[in-house]
Amino acid sequence: MNATDMGGDLQQVLITQEQIERRLDEMAAQIDADYEGRDLLLVGVLKGAVYVMADLSRRLRRSVPMDWMAVSSYGSGTKSSGVVRILKDLDADITGRDVLIVEDIIDSGLTLSWLMGNLGSRGANSVETATLLRKPEAVRVEVDVKYVGFDIPTEFVVGYGLDYAENYRNLPFIGTLSPSVYES
Ligand code: 5GP
Ligand code: MG
Ligand code: MG
Repeated sequence: MNATDMGGDLQQVLITQEQIERRLDEMAAQIDADYEGRDLLLVGVLKGAVYVMADLSRRLRRSVPMDWMAVSSYGSGTKSSGVVRILKDLDADITGRDVLIVEDIIDSGLTLSWLMGNLGSRGANSVETATLLRKPEAVRVEVDVKYVGFDIPTEFVVGYGLDYAENYRNLPFIGTLSPSVYES
């Protein structure tokens, strides 16, 4: 699928598929180096992180187990509150393990901050995060994100796992939507 296939829905391609792939190469190399000889477990946050997980994990030069969580963040409108409910918990026991959370985007950082605390309290040896995208807002929260693909402006983006009303997740790039999509 490309921008033209979407008719008038797309306003702008912010990050191309090629740019994403090159950056994931770099992130995977860094993760390989940092976790050499350690008991790494990748934890993907559903549903947005599915594409990042698939493409990042396949670039690692090792076999690595992965697990998934689904969380829902309560908030008014589009702002998350940091009050999080677990919809699907991990299958794995993470006691003593080195956990790397895989995320699509960090916006306020409140969801991630809660998640890192939650996983840390289960006795993990370490809990770090890799995210494809980060917005400026996240920098203000006390949350340490070790691997960041791209810092982007405060704009609502879709594609590469990110949705608008469950659509556009399967776009192979990151883009913004035309205002007409929100208005219809
Ligand atoms: P926060 O960091 O604010 O607690 O929440 C992050 C979550 O908000 C992401 O996992 C994603 O579901 C949603 N989100 C934040 N910014 C965007 C965006 O620009 N586009 C889309 N599609 N979702 C976003
Ligand atoms: Mg997410
Ligand atoms: Mg969403």
